[in-house]
Amino acid sequence: MGMFSQAISNLFKKPFTKLYPAEKYEPIKDTRGRFVMDVTRCIFCGLCERNCPAAVIKVDKARKRHETVISGCILCYRCQEVCPKGCISFREHYAPPTVARTALVHEILPRGQEPARGAAVEERKDVEGGTAWAYTIELPLPGPGKG
Ligand code: SF4
Ligand code: SF4
Repeated sequence: MGMFSQAISNLFKKPFTKLYPAEKYEPIKDTRGRFVMDVTRCIFCGLCERNCPAAVIKVDKARKRHETVISGCILCYRCQEVCPKGCISFREHYAPPTVARTALVHEILPRGQEPARGAAVEERKDVEGGTAWAYTIELPLPGPGKG
């Protein structure tokens, strides 16, 4: 088929690509996902932080706090591989495009204490010694020259 007739026939075919981001795609099994963590099993050893190639994990043992900048995660699954307690997993998830920097925080706070204002709480569970929280916070965007 010549180039001209190919172009004409393509006019009547369905597009080969999706109109991203207007059209939502269905997540493909075992590919992209969303970071999930069970903070109640975490020993705050920092192995995930030290092995994250994107440097998006911060672990604070004293505060029993685990923070991941999920908008910077490259989904390499290295943290899941190195975690000795099996705390980290990933679930299929469609993440719409965004310019926001979002951190997902898991922490155990003393009973009665709540995350700072502005936190979007995803989960809370009373555990031995406090309450386990999972919430997201929006981080400031890096300015020029700040990386
Ligand atoms: S590697 Fe696992 S146990 Fe260690 S800090 Fe990370 S999530 Fe917690
Ligand atoms: S999946 Fe990779 S980039 Fe994402 S938090 Fe884990 S180690 Fe870091």
